[in-house]
Amino acid sequence: MRLNYFTFKKEDIECSHCSWKGKGTALCYGDFSEAHAICDMNCPSCFETIGFWAGPLKEELEKWNRENPGVTTGWE
Ligand SMILES: [Zn+2]
Repeated sequence: MRLNYFTFKKEDIECSHCSWKGKGTALCYGDFSEAHAICDMNCPSCFETIGFWAGPLKEELEKWNRENPGVTTGWE
């Protein structure tokens, strides 16, 4: 599952392996590919990979900020 980089920390996530439910902020960091800026996020209960996010390009970051003024993302 691809997580939305901007909003997944505030979303309700459910683990398909063990049925853990919680906010994206509770997920554990898994493998991170520096070359691709892709990071796996793991379930805090069973440690299976739940999804991944890809770091946004500068243009995507600016676009999102323009379209979502004042919206917090959980990264602050
Ligand atoms: Zn799990």
